[in-house]
Amino acid sequence: MVTGKTKCLGILGWPVEHSFSPQMQNAAFKSAGLDYTYVPLAVHPEQLSKAVNGLKALSFVGANVTIPHKVTIMSYLDELDQSAKMVGAVNTIVIRDNKAYGHNTDACGFIQSLLKRGVTLSGKHAVILGAGGAARAVIWGLIEQGIASVSIGVRNVEKAQDLMNVFTPFANISAYQWPSTKFDSIISNCDILINSTPLGMYPNVQAEPQVDWPNLTRPIAVCDLIYTPTKTNFLLHAEQQGHLIINGMGMLVEQGAAAFTLWTGVQAPTEVMYAELARKKV
Ligand code: NAP
Repeated sequence: MVTGKTKCLGILGWPVEHSFSPQMQNAAFKSAGLDYTYVPLAVHPEQLSKAVNGLKALSFVGANVTIPHKVTIMSYLDELDQSAKMVGAVNTIVIRDNKAYGHNTDACGFIQSLLKRGVTLSGKHAVILGAGGAARAVIWGLIEQGIASVSIGVRNVEKAQDLMNVFTPFANISAYQWPSTKFDSIISNCDILINSTPLGMYPNVQAEPQVDWPNLTRPIAVCDLIYTPTKTNFLLHAEQQGHLIINGMGMLVEQGAAAFTLWTGVQAPTEVMYAELARKKV
């Protein structure tokens, strides 16, 4: 029951009605016996700075941030953590003493989803398909784990230049034309292959990133950031070749779990959050 003591949280997005976070976070608060409530907050892009002030004025304890606000909101916050600065986006805000602190939990959420499946990253060679916002979070997470190299496949290498400028000082990172023979040979020797393009996402479930699967030299971990459908054609074909497959559900739940902990100081009941996601209809 919501009372005068209930702590308020929400998700800022435009549109926001499709967000799964209210369902997932409210189930987690209930399970943990915490007096918090979490609501969708539709914020037009032109109202974003007012919305941040509004959260403070209304004594919200924090929020999540989704499309299209993850980058623009940064200039309205009081402080950013290192992850938010490196990824160049904020997905979680903590409000304390009338100050708004920006965090990015997508990076640690992705990493946590891999660690939970037994994938180790230190000294490994990763390949990422696509160089958008999600790729930046993935790359920062991999760097923090001590990845040996990151190779990015893009259809337009120039578009990866910003990302390269940010991460080159921190990692052995290269961008390649994809598809190309050179990039095929990089894929064939990697330890972990990650799809961060929307290829194969509902409703275009027949699409998939082209990979020459028989060319891979050994079983690897293959990840798709997509979670609708839970098994994309990309993951299906990887599984048929004997690779470990990991979909985007883990990243979605674990970024939410990390935000939950930032707000409450309590470990999130991730099994409850996974169960909520499993109940979700596309
Ligand atoms: P984004 O910023 O739009 O980036 C998409 C990237 O994919 C760009 O590099 C784009 O290249 C590339 N791409 C798109 N269509 C392509 C095609 N047909 N062939 C080759 N490359 C293509 O999107 P994002 O925010 O990074 O999200 C990417 C995916 O991750 C989406 O499916 C999203 O749902 C998923 N995601 C999942 C989670 C999670 O929690 N599991 C979180 C965030 C995102 P161009 O620049 O050339 O267009």
